[in-house]
Amino acid sequence: MHHDDHIAESVLDLIRQQDSAAADIIAREQTRQASTIELIASENHVSPAVMHAMGSCLTNKYAEGYPGARYYGGCEFHDQIEDLARDRAKQLFGCKFANVQPHSGAQANAAAMMALLQPGDTFAALLLKDGGHLSHGMKINFSGVFYNPVFYPLHYDAKHPDFERIDYDAVRDVCLEHKPKLILCGYSAYPRIIDFARFREIADECGALLMADIAHIAGLCATDVHPNPFPHAHVVTTTTHKTLRGPRGGLIMTNDEDLAKKIDKSLFPGIQGGPLMHVIGAKAIAFGEALKPDFTDYAKRVVKNAQALAGALTERGYRITSGGTDNHLMLVDLQPKDANLTGADAEKWLEAAGLITNKNGIPNDPRSPRVTSGLRLGTPATTTRGFGPAEMSRIADMIDRVLSSSGDESTTRTVRAEVSDLCEALPLPGAAALKAVR
Ligand SMILES: *Cc1c(COP(=O)(O)O)cnc(C)c1O
Repeated sequence: MHHDDHIAESVLDLIRQQDSAAADIIAREQTRQASTIELIASENHVSPAVMHAMGSCLTNKYAEGYPGARYYGGCEFHDQIEDLARDRAKQLFGCKFANVQPHSGAQANAAAMMALLQPGDTFAALLLKDGGHLSHGMKINFSGVFYNPVFYPLHYDAKHPDFERIDYDAVRDVCLEHKPKLILCGYSAYPRIIDFARFREIADECGALLMADIAHIAGLCATDVHPNPFPHAHVVTTTTHKTLRGPRGGLIMTNDEDLAKKIDKSLFPGIQGGPLMHVIGAKAIAFGEALKPDFTDYAKRVVKNAQALAGALTERGYRITSGGTDNHLMLVDLQPKDANLTGADAEKWLEAAGLITNKNGIPNDPRSPRVTSGLRLGTPATTTRGFGPAEMSRIADMIDRVLSSSGDESTTRTVRAEVSDLCEALPLPGAAALKAVR
């Protein structure tokens, strides 16, 4: 048994001695993660080192402020760990300033927007239903309550060679018409390369700042598997827990010293109080992992696997929006396979078979967001497990059997057993302890 597995096991034992109800729930969740195939594009499995840094003594400390300028005593080592995280983030993305304190991606966006915009100011973004994010101007979100979003389109014409991709000419038109102060690019459900240089040209032409929210693709950008938003973007925000494979959290970066100062202020004391120092410790470790050559290899395999999965699903009659993927995710249009099949049913049936996905609208989806005609699939988590193209083709086959049978009971049972076998053959990082737990 690996050393880290002993730690994982003893941590759960320790919890169980005090609180068996909570320990049992955590153990069941561990088993669920170990024995199902995680295809949600925004999820991943962190290393044992990242996992356990979040359970460390760093959680006990108040460290409001920034390294060297805290509002509490006793921050010597908190300064060191935050500096380590900041330095590694800067090295990873090749930029001058990093704020590692955002509790999440949405918090990173809130702080960045507060630094770059005044209430009522206009910014441009992609609609949620086209692949954008809640924090990019939805009416029910702070970004739509306090600011004035305008939206740029995709190519919606099926005959256009760039069908379902960003329509850069239309982005320019929208921005020249509305003169936003800020242009936002970077998405939650967009499978193609983002042309940051093109966005910067448009921003310069209409006098806007460019913000790239690379929440999904950060791990690919850090390894040049997707182009880096620097030097094009004025500000870059991201999560740390998706392709970057760190703890749940956010990160804001820039090369501009004045903007960096504004961002630090709007993050704290603007929208947050004390930083989550245990998470910042885990960010330092995750950024360290991402700086290693192994991680570049991982990022390349993530994309290869996504392309293999997209290809295998296409062969089985599903349509992948925009015709494929350049990154870690794809949107599967279920309609060409079966006009009555909804994303909601597909998600439910696949989950029963141990294949974890999320329903997702496709561009111009005729169904509501609660139902949808599509599924979003991603390969960050399965690639962490060591799955390769052969496993991707098996996954496509299993997905197709479950959906073609409309979640029929015996098919579901058979596929569930195959999923378990695959998961046992390729276990999670540091997961051998789970056998002891179960
Ligand atoms: C996931 C995501 C976020 C938000 O991250 P949270 O940590 O869930 O707040 C922000 N922007 C984009 C584009 C995302 O995909």
